[in-house]
Amino acid sequence: MTFLPQEVISRKRDGHALTAEEIATFIAGFTKGTVSHAQAAAFAMAVYFQDMTMPERVALTLAMRDSGDVLDWSDLDGPVADKHSTGGVGDNVSLMLAPILAAMGIFVPMISGRGLGHTGGTLDKFDAIPGYQTQPDNALFRQVVRQAGCAIIGQTADLAPADKALYAIRDVTGTVESIALITASILSKKLAAGLGALVLDVKTGSGAFMPTLDRSRELARSLVEVANGAGLKTGALITDMNEPLASAAGNGLEMRNAVNFLTGRHQDPRLKEVTLSLCAVLAEMTGVAGTVEAGRLLAEAALNSGRATERFAVMVHALGGPGDFLDNMDAYLAAAPIIRDVFAEGDGTITEIDTRGVGMAVVALGGGRIMPTDAIDHRVGFDRLAGLGATIDAQRPIARLHAADAASADDAERRIRAAYRLGSAAPENPLIPDSVPFASSQEI
Ligand code: URA
Repeated sequence: MTFLPQEVISRKRDGHALTAEEIATFIAGFTKGTVSHAQAAAFAMAVYFQDMTMPERVALTLAMRDSGDVLDWSDLDGPVADKHSTGGVGDNVSLMLAPILAAMGIFVPMISGRGLGHTGGTLDKFDAIPGYQTQPDNALFRQVVRQAGCAIIGQTADLAPADKALYAIRDVTGTVESIALITASILSKKLAAGLGALVLDVKTGSGAFMPTLDRSRELARSLVEVANGAGLKTGALITDMNEPLASAAGNGLEMRNAVNFLTGRHQDPRLKEVTLSLCAVLAEMTGVAGTVEAGRLLAEAALNSGRATERFAVMVHALGGPGDFLDNMDAYLAAAPIIRDVFAEGDGTITEIDTRGVGMAVVALGGGRIMPTDAIDHRVGFDRLAGLGATIDAQRPIARLHAADAASADDAERRIRAAYRLGSAAPENPLIPDSVPFASSQEI
């Protein structure tokens, strides 16, 4: 029978659950061009309003995975795993997590994204390293994963192309904020990467796309249930984004912060806790450790022994970066022409941070994009960011600002001041308020 995409759209519009076959045929048609962009947009809007059951979400995820290549790592003699963050500010976890896992014997082929909205993107951070190739060919990608144990690169056109096309349509049709569509979008790419295990870092709070804990839980449960239903062993931690995670926000500055973390020169405590916790969960899921607690000890040993640092150096050099990047970071990460402290108007304890506002200040400095084609200035952003509960006054600044020119520095100064509230007592936000272990996901 001839497939009629409008029938699928109407059934979803009227609140019916679609069959796996209907979804697969619709997405296959969209990939081939026999389902139009207008029909895909109508489909996305119908899903936005009527939602999808878990089996429908699994079917959509698998259909989008199958729109392109699926990587196969069966030639590697160890588990293959990755982490995905739903996006934050000062969130450079991937830069440490990948080499720590590699040093624990877990292969990490990490296909990362660019900044989205107010959040930073891992790929933009690696672009700060001169020579580093974020778009290697498949042969080099595989060689680096084998040699370094990890390779952090960008999305290729061959992985989940239906997601790329549908995402672009969602972006301009008011249909991004559907948990069903977000779930299928994130997971189709992770399934196409051929992983054996995945841990999700679902952010919550003022710098997260899901600002309330309830919505973050809903997204975490959807991601974990659908991933496991689609055959990918997955667990999630919900982590706090009511303040930047690292004390730096901005691409080159976060790279510098990560190198200092790996070499032991400076380790932000909240960043360290989240990074090691995610590594520990993956260690247990991949069977590298018997328990999460044992996984945590292995992750700490990988970091403290310098083995993770060495994995990072090997990865950077193998992907075209300088061989002495860790030793001579200052020679490679360009400094911004204007670097100055930003002070609050009064003094007191920091009681609230509009973390999204901090991210937007980085974007306004040129550290993010206003138009998709914009070039990024890797030098700009903030470091020495004060966290919730810190006391600031005329001697102790909110942050140190790095800007390309005086006008953008003044604008960013206003933005960061507006993002910080002072008072007498800061709230106690738990760093990891909840988790969804993979074992608890229900049969779908
Ligand atoms: N990231 C994705 O890859 N897809 C979404 O839909 C949202 C965030």
